[in-house]
Amino acid sequence: MKATCWMGKQSVEVEDVPDPKILNARDAIVRITSTAICGSDLHLYNGLIPSMKKGDVLGHEFMGEIVEVGHGVNNLVVGDRVVVPFPIACGRCLQCERQLYSLCENSNPNAWMAEKLWGYSPAGIFGYSHMLGGFAGGQAEYARVPFADVGPIKVPENLSDDQVLFLSDIFPTGYMAAEQCGITPGDIVAVWGCGPVGQFAIKSAYLLGAERVIAIASSRRRCSRRTGRWRCDRRSWRAAAAERCQSPACTAASSTSSPWGPSSIER
Ligand SMILES: [Zn+2]
Ligand SMILES: [Zn+2]
Repeated sequence: MKATCWMGKQSVEVEDVPDPKILNARDAIVRITSTAICGSDLHLYNGLIPSMKKGDVLGHEFMGEIVEVGHGVNNLVVGDRVVVPFPIACGRCLQCERQLYSLCENSNPNAWMAEKLWGYSPAGIFGYSHMLGGFAGGQAEYARVPFADVGPIKVPENLSDDQVLFLSDIFPTGYMAAEQCGITPGDIVAVWGCGPVGQFAIKSAYLLGAERVIAIASSRRRCSRRTGRWRCDRRSWRAAAAERCQSPACTAASSTSSPWGPSSIER
């Protein structure tokens, strides 16, 4: 099959690699129908994460169709469409029982390497170095999904790939940021950064009841051209800081109405 491979610092190539196989009873093989590049992949690309090896298959945000299941997987059948979350979780350890799946104690066979660097190891992660398990990623035609009876989320037929793909990582990441704010209805929330995670944090803040979100970004391209969804006021950091809550942008923004709610984006 074809796969996107890390070939060294700032070197990525599409290579022919062996097709994945079922190795354990709880594995499944997914034919990838959609996959994404994460900002975290830049850390790999720029050589900031140790224990990458030439030829490692990248990608931890993917979804697709089940084409094979191990005999220990009872909740999926061939043909199911699934989104695959990026942390690999056994579903049975203490952390998994607490639904803290990203801290699974069983899914990273190289936990000792991560512990050496960080003190503790997270779960194994697809396509994210040998330190985090050495699992082949999903920027490929097929992927092996360990503990497939735990992580994959079945997708109803009426939802397109584009509507659900980001459940694999980046939407929950933005949602978690908003959730940790403890937003209550009517709150005004500020979000620093309008990259993909920031945009999901903005959307999530509205979902959780925020009345207004003030999104702050240094990149005009990120806050207006690409999204086209939010009102955008551009001013210097210095001017914005001086005006603080007396900001005309805040007053102006409160009178706008958009399906995403009013907001101002400062620069
Ligand atoms: Zn990611
Ligand atoms: Zn676990």
